[in-house]
Formats: sequence, C-alpha cells, structure tokens
Amino acid sequence: METVDKTLVAPCGMICWTCLAYLRDKNRCNGCGSPDVNKWKSCARCSIRNCSLLANTASKFCYDCEKFPCRRLKDLDKRYRTRYNTSFLENLVSIKNNGLEVFVQQEYVKRRCPVCDGTICIHRGFCLDCRKKQNST
Ligand code: SF4
Ligand code: SF4
Ligand SMILES: [Zn+2]
Repeated sequence: METVDKTLVAPCGMICWTCLAYLRDKNRCNGCGSPDVNKWKSCARCSIRNCSLLANTASKFCYDCEKFPCRRLKDLDKRYRTRYNTSFLENLVSIKNNGLEVFVQQEYVKRRCPVCDGTICIHRGFCLDCRKKQNST
C-alpha cells in the first residue's frame, strides 16, 4: 500500500493531506511542519503549533503534554467535530495508543476516494479530483 508522509499530521491531530489548502492546485500549503508561505493565516499564527509546551514534548504531539487536552485544543476539536465530523482528540489518542504509522494507514484507507483513488477533502467532504472532472464534462 502507498504510504503517506507522516509529517503531514499536525501536532493537534489535524491530517494536513486532507486539507483544502493542501489539495488545491494553486498556492498549495505543504502542511503544518512546512514553511509558512502558503498556509492559511490561522495556521501560520496557530497558538497550538507555536505552543512552548509542545516544544518540550518528546513526540511533538499534544497528547504528550501535561495539559492535554488544554482549552485551545478542546475548542479546535469542537469546531472540527461540529463542522467536519472529525475529532482531533480522537486522532491524538489513536496516535498515542497505536502509533503514527498505524494511524496514518487507517486514515489513508478511510479518506480514499472509491472512484479515482484521490483524497476526500476534510473541509469539503468530497473528492476534489472527481468534482473537477464532473465540472469539466
Ligand atoms: S493550511 Fe493548515 S491545516 Fe491546511 S495543510 Fe496547511 S498547515 Fe495543514
Ligand atoms: S495540549 Fe499542551 S502542547 Fe498542545 S496546545 Fe495545549 S498546552 Fe500546548
Ligand atoms: Zn475521486
């Protein structure tokens, strides 16, 4: 099975390879760990990514932090659960319990487009490749 770059999972549990900013054709963001050039402002200024406690963790994931889950993380989790049917806290617990490799493989399967093998965008809820083809026919 094809593997996904593990650095594309952010410290908060966001899976950056499913992000609209990562999947778009122009001015693509290469994920939380990449330079800020094409990031959404909210990500470039993200207080989780830039958290000093995060820097002290061994894994560089929030689950390793003594304050986990802190208020900022819970707020972000709530937003994504409500809007995008995804829980970052569940992602982080899964990474902690099963390891990053297993988590990434599970998500890779879960977020594959059954039609074209593309990626189902977390923000749109559909495969952008299929939608582009539909719109061009
Ligand atoms: S915009 Fe933010 S969430 Fe999206 S890929 Fe970039 S860092 Fe990840
Ligand atoms: S869980 Fe810890 S490392 Fe993550 S944002 Fe909160 S305080 Fe920072
Ligand atoms: Zn598709």
